Amino acid sequence: FAQGWVFIRGVPAMKFLPPEGPLEIAFAGRSNVGKSSLINAIIGQKGLARTSNTPGRTQELNYFVPDGHSGEGGDLPPLAVVDMPGYGFAEAPKEQVDAWTRLVFDYLRGRTTLKRVYLLIDARHGVKKNDAEVLDLLDRAAVSYQIVLTKIDKIKPAGVPRLIEETAQAIRKRAAAYPEILATSSEKGAGLDELRAAIAQLLEE
Ligand code: GDP
Repeated sequence: FAQGWVFIRGVPAMKFLPPEGPLEIAFAGRSNVGKSSLINAIIGQKGLARTSNTPGRTQELNYFVPDGHSGEGGDLPPLAVVDMPGYGFAEAPKEQVDAWTRLVFDYLRGRTTLKRVYLLIDARHGVKKNDAEVLDLLDRAAVSYQIVLTKIDKIKPAGVPRLIEETAQAIRKRAAAYPEILATSSEKGAGLDELRAAIAQLLEE
């Protein structure tokens, strides 16, 4: 993530996806889980992913690529980072939830260069019902995914190992889950190097 990154496009439906580059990773989580903050923190660019998206906003897959790799003229990016639309708005109408599920499932199933999804879970809340539904979706799509706990600065340090253990239990029997749970704080910088290292290792596989 040494170079600069740019936003290339928001994708509201499969036909608007950019050409497939070599690899792609995606970040998913309930709205307000700290997804934009985490993407900005690991890339090291404040304000790249927009923070605090308001509920009901257009649901799009937001594509970020290293600067100079916009995909135009055959210059495909070595890695794309995809910010998936947040889920779990209490007041979301059924059509919106259905549209979210369709877009996300089509993307998960259809994107052959998608290497892994990082599913963010708020350390204070743990795995909620709608997170479990997304885990089901990921398992059904057979896309590799890893759980990343966010905002661990909001819980007592002594509680972190137990939370990791509980979260590991929640995914133990899941087919597509990567067993290691990462614990992060975008605010304090905790776990960011570990997450970057996990991504780097993934890209070498
Ligand atoms: P998103 O909706 O998932 O993109 O979430 P945001 O990144 O916009 O974060 C939602 C709220 O949580 C904002 O008020 C952030 O400042 C806050 N937040 C994000 N990451 C952290 C963190 O690591 N620690 C703390 N304490 N707050 C955070």
